[in-house]
Amino acid sequence: MSFKSTIAAWPESRLQPLYEEATAADVEHALAKDELGMADLGALLSTAAKPYLEPMAQKANRLTRWHFGRTISLYAPLYISNLCAADCVYCGFSVRSGNKEKRITLKPDLIRKECEALARMGYQNVLILTGEAPKAVTVDYIAEAIAIAREYFSGVSVEVYAVDEADYELFVEAGLEGVTLYMETYHRPTYGQVHLEGEKSVYDYRLDASERAGKSGVRNLSIGALLGLYQWQQELLWVGLHARHLQKHCWQSSLSVSFPRLLHTPERFEVRDFVGDSDLVQGMLALRLFLPEVGFNLSTREAASFRDKLIPLGVTAMSAGSSTRPGGYATRGKEVLEQFEIEDLRSPEEVVQVIRAAGYDPVWKDYDRAFDPV
Ligand code: SF4
Repeated sequence: MSFKSTIAAWPESRLQPLYEEATAADVEHALAKDELGMADLGALLSTAAKPYLEPMAQKANRLTRWHFGRTISLYAPLYISNLCAADCVYCGFSVRSGNKEKRITLKPDLIRKECEALARMGYQNVLILTGEAPKAVTVDYIAEAIAIAREYFSGVSVEVYAVDEADYELFVEAGLEGVTLYMETYHRPTYGQVHLEGEKSVYDYRLDASERAGKSGVRNLSIGALLGLYQWQQELLWVGLHARHLQKHCWQSSLSVSFPRLLHTPERFEVRDFVGDSDLVQGMLALRLFLPEVGFNLSTREAASFRDKLIPLGVTAMSAGSSTRPGGYATRGKEVLEQFEIEDLRSPEEVVQVIRAAGYDPVWKDYDRAFDPV
């Protein structure tokens, strides 16, 4: 069953009262439960839950330790192309962003150089990223990049344009383990307003992409909404709904959620629904209580001091020492267009020290294919 039918049953008009009309009693009721429903999630996202952030944090910490222990996995983004034919108004790679820096696609030898540089830093998990330029950055090229990266890393995931089930199967054959694909906004009218050109502008095709990936044998699915595009409580309710849908229909895959937040955007786009630090914390805590066994990823989009505070609140994977431009680790400098500015500029070693100081074990390698059933 497609997520399209599930989300159709939970329109905004049904979800909004869950966080707008929730009371302190609803929040306490949700906090006392082990298995939360959508009404509970709505209550935890409400204004009524603001005075309960401390007990929510304690429970989130407890649940995360129960399901994940005291470990935080480390991963690095690996941009292999910044070509893009899509026009997403919030993105620096957009074909109409007006940015004049170089656009490049790394040839196999340069992908190897990036892999070598990241492997030297100690990484065992990488996330390969591209824009959406399927004619130039083809499915076959991405599959080749996955195969190259697999020579260096035990875990290779992609964050690329949405593709068909057969293409995800090709990626899996090349060694792919995970697919990160954010819906950006689940609110259909806003989706249309911010995705003006390219295949990404087709809402329904993107909505079902994670499920296609799961059905194709992708072992890790990562989802999320780009916070700031639309009302954050609404988006996180849909993220929760999507996660539950994938847990049910792609049960062979593990699931994680990311919380990308719009901080820096191109001049032509103003963030309409900026999400403050306290709202982001509340959103993460609420979703941790709703999805206790789901991983939470935290990227270097967020500032170092804020990331450090989030570590005990449910985070299970962090990027560090990131570059958002192709060739950014080994060969290319500022002449090449980056997707967005990194906030946390610390080296992987510095982030490792912070993780240890918080009482967690940094994990460079969290999986080996030898564990796969034969
Ligand atoms: S979000 Fe992705 S598809 Fe959209 S403009 Fe940026 S790189 Fe291209």
